[in-house]
Amino acid sequence: MAAINVLVIDRDKVVRDLLKEELEGANYKVWAVSDFEQALALAGETNFSIIMADLKLPGIEGTEIVRKFKELHSDTSLIAIVPYHSLRLAVDAMSKGDILDYVTKPFNIEEVKLVIRRVADRQYLVHQAGQKEFYQEMSVIDSLTGIYNRRHLDEILHREVERAKRYNQTISILMIDIDDFKKYNDTYGHLAGDEILKKIGDFLVHSLRSVDLVFRYGGEEFVVMLPQTFKQGGVEVAKRLLNLGRQNIPITISIGVAAFPEDAQEKDDLLAKADSALYQAKHLGKDRICLWGE
Ligand code: GH3
Ligand code: MG
Ligand code: MG
Repeated sequence: MAAINVLVIDRDKVVRDLLKEELEGANYKVWAVSDFEQALALAGETNFSIIMADLKLPGIEGTEIVRKFKELHSDTSLIAIVPYHSLRLAVDAMSKGDILDYVTKPFNIEEVKLVIRRVADRQYLVHQAGQKEFYQEMSVIDSLTGIYNRRHLDEILHREVERAKRYNQTISILMIDIDDFKKYNDTYGHLAGDEILKKIGDFLVHSLRSVDLVFRYGGEEFVVMLPQTFKQGGVEVAKRLLNLGRQNIPITISIGVAAFPEDAQEKDDLLAKADSALYQAKHLGKDRICLWGE
């Protein structure tokens, strides 16, 4: 892990030197300055993870210091340096959420290191949690099958429908659902079921043109989007998938087909029509293709 940047602000040179030496010994990267102006100038160029400040620097209120630093880097953590007799100042600042922790002068250096360690660990955890959420939010890939997920379908289909409107193009949608998958899971186990889902994802991706996109829509449902394809073309593709699937994978599938613009003019409606055609295919005995409107 990269060294953690710490800025120390204290009027007392003895304090600055002591903290710099001790913290550098503990592998922190330390800057130490005597006043707020210098500190602010430094913080303008360097991103400090931790700022340790004597909150009673001349000419400026503690909360004002905090506010200025937070303006520069919102994720900087502040630790107050307070003389033992003004502990109340620190406790106040902590209860307002201005600072995360404090150390008292004169120092017990082991305690100082512990406080910093704790603040740094906390920062790290918050950062990790944020990253995880960020990547989950951003993710367009379904983790089991490695194909696109439903969120991505929403985005892409919206874009494709808008494009198709502008250029007078067509889009076919195939809604695919595995037949009696519950029975398959019950017979062979959930893990074997997962393997089937992966196989189908692979199979679909490899059976289609590169401009066609495959999404895992739900548990055992997949959507194939065929840009610039008339409904009859969509049906041809669906037939091919149905037949090939029979040879390659030990289950059967049902497929509903709907097309833009003849069946629906908006993304959600297009999906709903394909879904309703799929429902019809199930109703008629599964292992077959149904078209919306027939
Ligand atoms: P139908 O032919 O009418 O579609 O019947 P079905 O059994 O396939 O449909 P149903 O909707 O009743 O059940 C879907 C099953 O899919 C239930 C669930 O256990 C299974 N399933 C959904 N997601 C997963 C998954 O990620 N892995 C596994 N192994 N099974 C899943
Ligand atoms: Mg099913
Ligand atoms: Mg289903």
